[in-house]
Amino acid sequence: DIVIIGAGPGGYVAAIYAAKHNLNVIVVEKGHLGGTCLNVGCIPTKTLVKSAEVYHGYQESEIFGVYAQEYSLDMKRVITHKDEVVKQLRMGIESLMKSNHIEVIEGIGTLVDNQTVTVQGENADYHLKAKYIILANGSKIANLPIPGISLSFVLNSTTALSLDELPKSITIVGGGIIGMEFAFIYSHFGVRVSVVEYLDNILSVLDNDVIEEITKLAQANKINLYTNSKVTKIELSINNQAIVFFEQNNQQQLLVSEKVLIAIGRSPNFEGLEKIQGLELLEKNKGVKVNEYMQTSIPNIYAIGDLNGHLQLAHVASHQGIIAVKHLLGIKETIDYKLVPSVIFTNPEIAYVGINEKQAISQGLNIKISKFPFNANGKAITMNKDQGFVKII
Ligand code: FAD
Repeated sequence: DIVIIGAGPGGYVAAIYAAKHNLNVIVVEKGHLGGTCLNVGCIPTKTLVKSAEVYHGYQESEIFGVYAQEYSLDMKRVITHKDEVVKQLRMGIESLMKSNHIEVIEGIGTLVDNQTVTVQGENADYHLKAKYIILANGSKIANLPIPGISLSFVLNSTTALSLDELPKSITIVGGGIIGMEFAFIYSHFGVRVSVVEYLDNILSVLDNDVIEEITKLAQANKINLYTNSKVTKIELSINNQAIVFFEQNNQQQLLVSEKVLIAIGRSPNFEGLEKIQGLELLEKNKGVKVNEYMQTSIPNIYAIGDLNGHLQLAHVASHQGIIAVKHLLGIKETIDYKLVPSVIFTNPEIAYVGINEKQAISQGLNIKISKFPFNANGKAITMNKDQGFVKII
């Protein structure tokens, strides 16, 4: 009944939901079950967030009357732990696939026409025919076309996850969600961190008061922030250090560090979709165009998750998968994106749902704002986590 390309949180959730509704499903995956989120995204980063939090926590343990005589960081063990967590969850998906009788074919799926997907597997080639096709190809790391980007000390969010020796210093290019999560991880591990951001602010999607607070906390964690800054090139210094050149207020600046991490975002992955005719894309190729039921311009083909250019969040991908399967079963349900919760795993975390103040104002809404600081909240004070606030609009 259905061929799904991609086994990330979009594809595998859609597959399980369809199988539970007695549809025959085949999933094609070129990498690992769980996709970006499980293998090189949400889960591994959050494992590092936790290790960094535990390590950093020792620095304030005396406040709680706990004296750690000696503590140290074993980065190899941190990475092994991360790998174990990923493996455990991957095995969980594998067993869900088996118990729901979903066949998984390894290889790159190519969409040939509106009912055919071919796969060049390692051991065999497949020619799959289905009534419906769900594209869940996800996204890939966006490219920064500047000189020096391929130098060996330049990391991306995937290679950074396997770094089992910490650098003394790192320059992170991009102060968005992924960049700032890594900034807090590394600074908690004791690495000297600088963040270079092209826009006026880090985490610019947030309200200004939230940005101010997290900027203050980043600086308190010795994270150096350079906003309004355009990185122009990266070079290797004579003593094997990375030099990141950038323009700030029309002035040339540079930062020297041991490693550089590029975290400028992700773009949709159109791999395997090159041959199909009539599949409409969004402006500037920002994704595959879909309607509110995730249907593409070819009605029996759906596109879910990061591929369709809505919100790049795992739970959105999963929910879109369910919406797509429901639609092909004849049930018309839609998503209200205003109700999607998000979390940014800085320290402290930033969590939000609904529209923010900036958006409310731009929509001309008559709003009232309540704010309550954590430094007046009992539980926050007991935890020595009294920075930040709750804001209701
Ligand atoms: P993906 O997870 O990208 O999966 C797509 C799959 O399709 C991949 O496995 C790929 O190998 C496969 N594929 C692609 N093309 C083909 C083809 N032609 N043939 C066969 N297989 C193919 N989101 C959150 O909600 N919370 C977080 O905390 C969070 N943290 C993140 C941290 C990082 C560092 C990154 C990079 C992302 C993070 N995200 C987070 C985003 C989240 O990972 C994505 O939104 C989510 O994975 C999208 O799911 P998807 O199923 O659309 O695609």
